[in-house]
Amino acid sequence: MVHDRSLVVGLGSNLGSREAFLRAALDLLAHRHGVTVDAHSPRYETAPVGPAQPRYINAAARVRSALAPEELLAAMLDVERRLGRERRERWGARTLDLDLLWIDGTVVDTPSLTVPHPELLRREFALRPLLDVAPEAVDPRDGAPLAPALAALTPDASMMARALADGFETEILDHTADEGFVTVADDRADLFAAAAEALGALIVDPASVHIRTEVPLAITVDAEAGDDERMFAWLSEALYVLDAKRVALRRAVVLDDGPTHVRGVLFGDALDESTHAVRSALKAITWHTLDVGPRPDGRWRAQVVVDV
Ligand code: ATP
Ligand code: CA
Ligand code: CA
Repeated sequence: MVHDRSLVVGLGSNLGSREAFLRAALDLLAHRHGVTVDAHSPRYETAPVGPAQPRYINAAARVRSALAPEELLAAMLDVERRLGRERRERWGARTLDLDLLWIDGTVVDTPSLTVPHPELLRREFALRPLLDVAPEAVDPRDGAPLAPALAALTPDASMMARALADGFETEILDHTADEGFVTVADDRADLFAAAAEALGALIVDPASVHIRTEVPLAITVDAEAGDDERMFAWLSEALYVLDAKRVALRRAVVLDDGPTHVRGVLFGDALDESTHAVRSALKAITWHTLDVGPRPDGRWRAQVVVDV
């Protein structure tokens, strides 16, 4: 019998819907590759290393898997690809980076894989979340606890911790004649992911959906289009795609949120009334009550009402 290894995977994103990528990555590791996710750290917003680029969201997950380390690395690269990772310059901006930070009691040193990750002890954005999920972790090379190494690092004063919840902050609006939601996210790209997930959740309870399929979703708008118009186009297209392809949604990500387009991916399963908790059928997104924009605290909010 093959015993599960206990490992820590580091996650990072600094393009598109950063928070949505972290959750989608954990689901894809679990649903596509049979990896068990036991715990994850908070998400930390951190300063980038390497070339000038946007700030990162980092986290770590404690997982179990019977996969050999090289097989797990292949699974992680597959998840990066599905979540839009394109490799250009070294340490360049990316939608998703998955690093194998640590394996309990195991050292790996091959041309394609080094574990513990060679930079682990020098990077607060990797070591801090690792210790959140594996406080007792020791260096498999010499048995030394990893916790003291964190205290030895120069702290990133701009590092900010927030909970990594199971989903975005969404409130369902349930009136007699219509339904809708209010959702909040850190920035506009995550707001588009949050709104697509909230729309999907009005149709099927996402907790009942195991990811088996993925559908690209893209819209183009005029350069003068406001955020309300972009959101209307984005959600109308999402509703059309979910309906036409009969997909139950679990996760949505935004790869690219440009001035005249939004590009993302919907992750879910072929709709099946016998296994999915179906809630209601939606007819259309309603334009006149749509309200999208930044809040005074800098986070972004969308209010959306739909015709049922
Ligand atoms: P860094 O490794 O410094 O964090 P990076 O994550 O940007 O940089 P990538 O382009 O994502 O680097 O990875 C390049 C290669 O690193 C991968 O294809 C993989 O073969 C190799 N690699 C070696 N050790 C590890 C590890 N522990 N986790 C992930 N990849 C690793
Ligand atoms: Ca990395
Ligand atoms: Ca990497």
